[in-house]
Order: sequence, then structure tokens, then C-alpha cells
Amino acid sequence: MTTTIDSIRKMDRQDPLSAYRDRFHLPKDVTYLDGNSLGALPTTTAARIQDVVTREWGEDLIRSWNTNDWINAPRRLGDKIARLIGADAGEVISADSTSINVFKALSAATQLNSERSVILSETGNFPTDAYMMEGLAAMSGGRLKAELVERDAVLDSLDDRVAVLLLTHTHYKTGALWDMKTVTAAAQDKGVLVIWDLSHSAGALPVELNACNADFAVGCGYKYLNGGPGAPAFLFAAKRHHTVFPALSGWLGHKAPFAFSDHYEAGDGIDRFQCGTPGILGMAALECGLDLMLEADMADIRSKSMALGDLFIKLVDENLSGFRIVSPRLSEKRGSQVSIAHTDGYAIMQALIERGVIGDFRAPDILRFGFTPLYTRYEDVWRAVSEISDIMQSGAWQDARFAVRSAVT
Ligand SMILES: *Cc1c(COP(=O)(O)O)cnc(C)c1O
Repeated sequence: MTTTIDSIRKMDRQDPLSAYRDRFHLPKDVTYLDGNSLGALPTTTAARIQDVVTREWGEDLIRSWNTNDWINAPRRLGDKIARLIGADAGEVISADSTSINVFKALSAATQLNSERSVILSETGNFPTDAYMMEGLAAMSGGRLKAELVERDAVLDSLDDRVAVLLLTHTHYKTGALWDMKTVTAAAQDKGVLVIWDLSHSAGALPVELNACNADFAVGCGYKYLNGGPGAPAFLFAAKRHHTVFPALSGWLGHKAPFAFSDHYEAGDGIDRFQCGTPGILGMAALECGLDLMLEADMADIRSKSMALGDLFIKLVDENLSGFRIVSPRLSEKRGSQVSIAHTDGYAIMQALIERGVIGDFRAPDILRFGFTPLYTRYEDVWRAVSEISDIMQSGAWQDARFAVRSAVT
């Protein structure tokens, strides 16, 4: 490779975030470039979970809801997430899965804009977002309609039929970013409420929900927030929207859950977006990821993320042929991942994973590489491209075992 490993190691030595890598457990000989799908394990998490299980659950039992403050975990973690996404305390709740939070946000927004019927999103969005739109529309008995238009047509499709626009801030496949401020303003100008899915943005780049006057947002705990597999997700609702009757009106979102009243009365503020009992083990793991993330400077995270992506693109250009760069080349226009396409992408990714370089594959032909500045080194980017180059030159990817599809890609 024309760019030498020595020049790359120098970049690692000058990296202001380099000390964070030791705060994660990372298996030896693995180059992990899939933190955008499942974040790595913080070094504090295992001991914390052990303590929650043996002491808080084992010894303190049900008293822990009060004595170990289990009951406030959704709000406490929500306030920590708020600091990462430009929201105020009391505007974010950590709860449920992203899919369920999409449903909650959609039902709240369509209630606030009840004279309009269309829920709009883009084709090629992450499937769960579109599927939840269809579910809500089906439940509405004809009042609501789910519509998808191509990315380029989104802004022109905002008219007085549209109640809510649901967009993923950083596209899961291409990494392309929407301009949150401009799009939110354009939608609101047409009377449309906006829900931002931050699954690939929270913890990956600065997000300024309130500075953009966002209405609602949702996002994932297990990607860049390093909360562990299936970690609790989150929901943001701007204070001005803490008026709706939540569709998932569960008992823990009630104003006084322990009054056990027969009828629902929405809880104060963001509490109304809670539904049932929080999973405390998952919350404990997520809090470890959040505490670690909050130590780091988001501006440093963003500039390293952009540099990692730029380096990857440069090395692909210099060393690989037959691959197409799918992500925006301009770092300001992409999140913290770079995707490249190749007709034999699936087999190439399997060969790469076997060599310990872990990215992922997204049908039909995309090899996706996520850069997580707290633990990805410039050297990791170099190694990934150097292994792909070797796999292509040697033809190693053509082995029949790499063509066998697994359930999860
Ligand atoms: C990862 C992701 C989700 C995940 O939803 P789950 O309910 O956690 O399975 C949702 N939306 C987007 C855009 C994602 O990237």
C-alpha cells in the first residue's frame, strides 16, 4: 500500500481520544468496524451487571426500586442521553426498543396534527420505521396513510396532507446525513411535525435537537452508545409536546402509578412516554456506556470520525478496484460510517470477518464499515483495507464457504 503503516501510526499517537480504547474490552486480533451495529463492551459493564445481579437484586430484592433508585432509571438515563443530543433534562426517556419508540412518537405526532392524514418517510429508510408507519396506519381504520417517496422528493412532498415526517438522520446503509435544521424548518413551515431517528447519530456526532427546534426523536442504545445487545432505546419529545395522551398508556407513564387508579392520567412531562417496567439489567449496562461517552468531548469524536472515514476512502481509492464508494465523499455530509459496494460483497465480507476484520453486509451489495472514535484506531482502518486488498488479489473470497448466508448479516 502506498500509504505506509508508519504514517498511520503517527496519526494514532497524535489522537486526543487514544486513551479511551483501553476503556473497552476488545478481543485480541480483532479489528472491530461494526460498532454502528453493536457497540463494544465498556470495561466497567461486567462488574456493574454483576453488582446489580448479586447485590441489588440478590440481596436488596424489591427494596431496590427505592434504595437503588431503579424506579428513576428511565429518567436518569434519559437526562444523560439528552446531553449527547442537544436536548434539555426532562425531554428524553430511556425505554423500550427503537421500534416501539417510533410507534409512540408517530402516534403522538399524528394526534397533535389530527386534521392531517399522511405519515411520510423516504424509500430505503431502515425497515422498522416504515413498518411501524404501516402498522399505525392499519390501526387507524383509514384515517392515516403511510407514504414513502424517494429521498430527493421528500422536501417537495411536504404539503397540507402531511401530518408527520419521519426521517433517519444518518442513513443506516449509506451514512448520508440529513441537514436536521433545514429539513425541520422546511417541514414546520408547512405545518408538518418531524421525528428524527437518531439510531446512527447518537454518540457518533454532535446532534442539536433543540437548536433545530426538533419535535420528536428516537434512537438506539446498543449502537454508538455501547449499551449492549438489545439495550433500552430512547425517545425525545420537545417540552411543548408534553401534552399528548400517549397511545401506549401503560401504568408507569401514569401520573401516580402507585395510586393504582382505574383510569389513565398522563404523567408529568416526559414520564408519559414510559409504558411498563424498565429492564434494569439492560439499563445498568446502558448507563455504563453513557457514562463513558459523556467523559469524551463530542467535537473530538466528530473530528476523529471524519478523519477515519476520509482515511478509509483514500485507502480504498489508492488500493482497491471494482468497489464503488456509496457514502458521501464529503465528511460533513456523512455520519460515522463508510459503505462500499461490490457485486460479490457478501462473500468478500465473510472472508474479511474470518480474518478478524469485522464489518457487516447490507443487501444487495453493500459492505459497511462503522468508525467508533472512542476505540477505532487509524491503524484499524489501514488493516481493513489492506486485508480487503489481499482478499481480492488472492481470490480468497471465492471459497465456497463464504457464499453461505447466515441468518444475521
Ligand atoms: C438500528 C436501527 C433501529 C433498530 O430498531 P430496534 O427496535 O432496536 O430493532 C431502528 N431504526 C434505525 C434507523 C436503525 O438504524
